[in-house]
Formats: sequence, structure tokens, C-alpha cells
Amino acid sequence: MNEGDKRQGSDRPDGETGSIEEGERDDDLQAEDIDIAESIGTDADLGTTGGLGDGESPDVGLDDVVLDDDDSRGLFDDLLSGEPIFENKEVLRPSYTPHELPHRTEQINQMATILVSALRGETPSNILIYGKTGTGKTASAKFVSQELESTSKKYDVPCEVEYINCEVTDTQYRVLAQLANKFIEKNQQLVDRQLDRFRDLRSQATSDPDVLSNTEFASIAAVEDRIDELEADREEMETVPMTGWPTDRVYSTFFDAVDYHERVVVIMLDEIDKLVEKSGDDTLYNLSRMNSELDNSRISIMGISNDLKFTDFLDPRVKSSLGEEEIVFPPYDATQLRDILQHRADVAFKDGALTEDVIPLCAAFAAQEHGDARRALDLLRTAGELAERSQSDTVEEQHVRQAQDKIELDRVVEVVRTLPTQSKIVLFSIILLEKNGVHNINTGEVFNIYKRLCEEIDADVLTQRRVTDLISELDMLGIVNAVVVSKGRYGRTKEISLSVPIEETEAVLLSDSRLGNIENAQPFVQARFDN
Ligand code: ADP
Ligand code: MG
Repeated sequence: MNEGDKRQGSDRPDGETGSIEEGERDDDLQAEDIDIAESIGTDADLGTTGGLGDGESPDVGLDDVVLDDDDSRGLFDDLLSGEPIFENKEVLRPSYTPHELPHRTEQINQMATILVSALRGETPSNILIYGKTGTGKTASAKFVSQELESTSKKYDVPCEVEYINCEVTDTQYRVLAQLANKFIEKNQQLVDRQLDRFRDLRSQATSDPDVLSNTEFASIAAVEDRIDELEADREEMETVPMTGWPTDRVYSTFFDAVDYHERVVVIMLDEIDKLVEKSGDDTLYNLSRMNSELDNSRISIMGISNDLKFTDFLDPRVKSSLGEEEIVFPPYDATQLRDILQHRADVAFKDGALTEDVIPLCAAFAAQEHGDARRALDLLRTAGELAERSQSDTVEEQHVRQAQDKIELDRVVEVVRTLPTQSKIVLFSIILLEKNGVHNINTGEVFNIYKRLCEEIDADVLTQRRVTDLISELDMLGIVNAVVVSKGRYGRTKEISLSVPIEETEAVLLSDSRLGNIENAQPFVQARFDN
């Protein structure tokens, strides 16, 4: 309500005509000025303004209509009308798969060289792909899989690619069930096509037995047998429920579905490290030994990992099988990021919407962020949105800087929000100290406040040693900065300071129901001086 009121309040005075006062308009409209009412419509008859474009009332020219239109602007008109910035914003979203991937030719060729065996009916080696987030692994893998599938159609070789995002599908049951159901669906489609064909053939053969002469069938009865067989198969194809079956039943259903006919199957397991972290390596173990038992088909696994060290947790057999081929995606540097952004920006933005510095600055920021192309694209999109929101005709350097702050703050808020309670209490202690003007905070000071806060909210009190560890974790997350300083003969100590905006962080902490109970924290800080 407030939001709407505010908008109306600020928009209406902008209407230049000013001939009708806001208050009287709705009531007196028809009586006061028929022409305007008829030609532009009003808030009241918004639903019936189909004739708006006609504007053919004799005394109102088109210009008048356009001008007067300002007067009846609604909540979205301003935002919708001036669109000088974006041509196609979708292109900047993470869900968009680009057709061109500059600076990934080498990795894409490596993948293609390995996977081409699939098109020759051979089993490609398993592949492991490594690289930090935003280095183009998913985009490249999807690109290659599209090419592989389209080539397999072109040459009519049975080769299929199944993509699974293990961050979402993160247990053995779900991975196998999802794969099983995909193959079952494809098998059903295949059977349906064959059934159509054979039923057709049967009816043709009934009137003209000669049509069978150049088929594999000797008689109508043989066709009928085949149809019965397929119908029985069709009957048996039961999809796997999302929960409830024993895992070995899911596995054997998947196995049968894959082996239903001859083909090479490439299974892409994206974010494979998340699967292993969550549910161990059983899935990979089972998948990697399937080939020795399959009769008709062959599978090849392509694992994609953000974590370079994830194979350390694997069973050695799985590790050697999965890592037959390894491809590394190095981080992009600023120049490469510029190219990537430029390609996308050409499609995403209107001509001339970007000032010169925008792309280089986005690239430079993202290069600092371990060469993350996703971050670069987020920055560019957010900068565009901020420019749009401030009604600017162009995206400028300041918008990129604001976007950087916004994205960074969003990240901090998310990280802080999901911290375990104990870490939140430690962080809150540091904030209280800073707010009271304490500089060069040391671990002992944090611990004292921490202890009192724990007592206040009835939380377990950890040892100072553990609290020191939690501070190190906060340091690694970039939330605090802890440096070890030497105090000469008094030994060494940590000096801690906050590296995130204090107000916003405190607000996030207090939105936690347990910490929100702390009403007045001042006494805790005072107590510090008593120790
Ligand atoms: P990863 O899977 O390695 O985390 P993605 O493949 O999801 O990274 O890439 C992140 C974003 O950056 C996606 O929007 C992707 O389209 C884009 N991107 C990454 N590399 C390139 C590239 N070489 N050219 C164009 N866009 C790219
Ligand atoms: Mg990815």
C-alpha cells in the first residue's frame, strides 16, 4: 500500500498537462472532458481501452493523445516505456547457454576428441573436468552434448547424453531414479513408434501380403508376434517413484532401461563433488562397473567438479576409472573476461547503452574474484538494472561499482544468514566490540563477550580454543580479518577486525530468532573492562 501510494504521489505531478486535478478526475471525468476520456482511457476503464490505439476522435491528434497519456500513467508505465538499456536481458542470465564460448576452444576440442568414439559406436573414456566456479565447465559441457546429440541424429548413430545436476539430485537413489526414468521415457517413445509402424504394416499386409516381401517378417503372424512382444515390453516399463524402492531395485530398473537396445550413453554428472560429499561414492562405483555387465549398450561418465581435490575421497577403483581422462578449466584473466562480456553485451544491450569503461571494469572485478565469468555477467546485468532503475540512458562506471557493492553485500548476507549459531554468536561479539569503538580486538576479548552472550541466550559455551577456530573460519569466509601480531616478549596474539558492513551484518544476525532475543547488549561490552 505504502509503495503504491508513494509511486502515485511521485508520478502524478510529473504529468505535464495539469489540466485536471487528481482528486476530481475520477469522479468528474466524463462530464469534464469527454475527448480525453474517450481517447486515452482512464484508470477506471483500463480494462476496456482496446480502442486506445484508434485515437480517432476527430479533435484529438495523435500527439495530444501521447502527451495526455502521461496523465494516466500507472505503476508500470514509466518503467516500461523508457527502455534505453537492455535489448535482451535473458542473454546475461546464468540459465542461458551461449552458442559461442571464447577461450574454451581447447577444452571443448579435448572433450570432443574423447567423445567422438561414441559416434563410432565405441565406448568413450570416462572424463573428469575440474575448475573453479564460473570457468565455463557447465556451459562447455552442455554445448558439447548438444553437438554430440545433433551429430548422432545426423548420422543416425544411437548415442545419447543425459545431464544431471548433482547439486539438486544429490543421493544415489535420486540419481539412479532420474536416469532410469529418462531412459524409460525414451524407450517408451521408441516402442510407441515401432508399434505404430508394425500395426500399419499388419493392416497393409492383410490386404496385400506382398508388402512383407522386403521386410524382416515372413508372415503376418510374425508381425503379430512382434507386436505382442512390444506390447508386453511396454507394459513392463514402470517408472521409478521418487522415493520408496530399495536401491537395488532402482539400480536394476535403470540397468534394464539402458540396456533395452544398442546405444552409447554419456552420463554427465555436474557438480559431482556435491554428490560425493553428500552421499559418498557408491553411485559412481555402481555406474563405473556397469559396462562389464551391459549386453547391448555402453555408458561413459563425464564428471564435473568445482573442487580440485574431491577425488581424494574416492575409492581408488572409482578414482582410476573416473579419471581416465582429465580436463582442467583454468580461471579466466581480465582480458578473456572482457571478450566474453563483449560477446554477450552485443546481444544483451541496446547500441550505445554501455559507456566505454563498463566492460573493462566488470572484467577487472571478476578477475579478482578468481576469474569467475558468472560474476562478471552478474555484475554487467546488475549494473544495467541499476542504470535502468535510476532512469539513466547509459550504463556507467558508477553503476558497475554500485553493482559490485550490491552483489558483495548479497553474498555476505547469505553467508552470515547460513552460519551455525555458535559462529553467529562469535561474530556478534566482534560486532559489539567494534560498535563500542574497540580496535585491534583480540581473541580473549571476543571470548569474554561470547561467554556472556551464550549465558544470556542459554547456548553451550565452547572452549576458547574452539572459538579461536571459529574466528579463523570467519576469516576464511572473508567476514572478519584476523592477523597474527607479535607482542614482543608477551608472545603473539590475533588482532581481529570486521571486513563486512557492520549495520547490515548485525541486522542479519538479529534476524536469527535466538540472537534476536538479546535485547540490550551494552552491559556485555561493559563487562569486558571488568575482566
Ligand atoms: P561453471 O560451470 O564452471 O561454474 P558456467 O559454465 O556455469 O561455469 O559459466 C558461468 C557463466 O559464464 C554462464 O552464464 C556461462 O554461460 C558464462 N560463460 C563461462 N565461460 C564462458 C565463455 N567462454 N564464453 C561465454 N560465456 C561463458
Ligand atoms: Mg557449473
